[in-house]
Amino acid sequence: MTEGGLRGNRYESAHHKGTKTQRTICTKCGERAIISQRYSGQHLCRDHFVQDFERRVADTVQKNNMVRDGERISVAVSGGKDSTALLFCLRRILAKRDVELVAVTVDEGIAGYRDDTIEAAKAIAQQLGIEQHIVSFREEYGYELDEMVPGKKVAPCTYCGVFRKSALNQAAKRLGTDKVATGHNLDDEAQTIMMNYLKGDIERLMRFRPWRAQRGLVPRIKPLREMPEKEIALYCMVNEVFTESRECPYAQLSLRADVRDMLNTLESQFPGTKHSTLQGFEKIVARAQGSYAQMELAACKECGEPCVKVLCKACELLESLKN
Ligand code: SF4
Ligand SMILES: [Zn+2]
Ligand SMILES: [Zn+2]
Repeated sequence: MTEGGLRGNRYESAHHKGTKTQRTICTKCGERAIISQRYSGQHLCRDHFVQDFERRVADTVQKNNMVRDGERISVAVSGGKDSTALLFCLRRILAKRDVELVAVTVDEGIAGYRDDTIEAAKAIAQQLGIEQHIVSFREEYGYELDEMVPGKKVAPCTYCGVFRKSALNQAAKRLGTDKVATGHNLDDEAQTIMMNYLKGDIERLMRFRPWRAQRGLVPRIKPLREMPEKEIALYCMVNEVFTESRECPYAQLSLRADVRDMLNTLESQFPGTKHSTLQGFEKIVARAQGSYAQMELAACKECGEPCVKVLCKACELLESLKN
C-alpha cells in the first residue's frame, strides 16, 4: 500500500474539476468527508470514519468470540500499517475490558526492510505503553531469511510464513498468552481464499478457518479480517500513528502479488468484490465443515511444536536447509 493509493479518488474528500473544487459531505453529519466507501455507499468525515472503523472491528471480535475477559493476547506487530492499526485499535476497543495486550515482533532478517519496521514497531508499543518482545529467525532457527532463500526452489514467502507462524506460536506459549492476534486484513483474506480456489485446494481452504482449538497451537485471531487495506492505512494516518510503508523486497515473487492485482482491478470495477469473496467463503465453510474433518495434531519429534506428520513444517524446512 503506497501513499499514492490513498490519493485515489475513492479516498479523497474533494474532486478537482479544473479550478473548481467539489466537496463530498459526510453521510452522517454533513461535515467534509475524507472517504467514500463505494461498497457501502457511505461518505464519512474523520470522526465518523474512526467510529465506523472501530465499531466494525469490535463487531468482528464479538461475533467471532475472539476475546474473553481475563485473557492475555499476543499481538503480532511488525511495524507495518496493518499490525500497527491492529494494536492501536484493539487497545481502544478493549480499553474497558479485563484484557492484557503484549506486542510480539518477529525479525525475519530481511536486509534493508525489517530494521526500519522494527523501529516503527518499538515506537508504537512504547507510545501505547504496551510490553514488547522481539524474536528473531537467527536466534530461533540459526538463519536469517536472507540466508535461507538464495538458490532455493521454495518461495521466500513460504519460508517466512512457516517460520513466522512457528515463532509466534512458541513466543505466545513462553509469554503465557491465550491467543495470537495478527493484522490480516480483508485484502489478505480474499487473496488467500482466491489462491486456494485457483489451486483447487479445498482441504487447505477449509483448514484456513479452523473451527476448534488444536493441541499445542495457541488460537489465532484476525480482528481486521473484514477491514479493507486502504481503510487501515487511512486509520493510521488520521490517528497520526507512524508506520513503515515500504514493501518487502520478496513480495513481488509470489502468486499472491498477481492475485492481489486481479482482486484490486475487480474491486475498482465492481465495488464489494473483496467483501463478497470473504462472505461467500464463510457460507461454504458453514455448510462444508462437517465434510472436512480437522486433523488431530501430533508433537514434532524435533521441537515439540504441533505437526501433521513426524516433523513440523519448520523443522522439515530446516532439514532441507542443512542438506
Ligand atoms: S512478503 Fe513474503 S518474505 Fe516478505 S515479509 Fe511477507 S511473507 Fe515474509
Ligand atoms: Zn460525520
Ligand atoms: Zn519442529
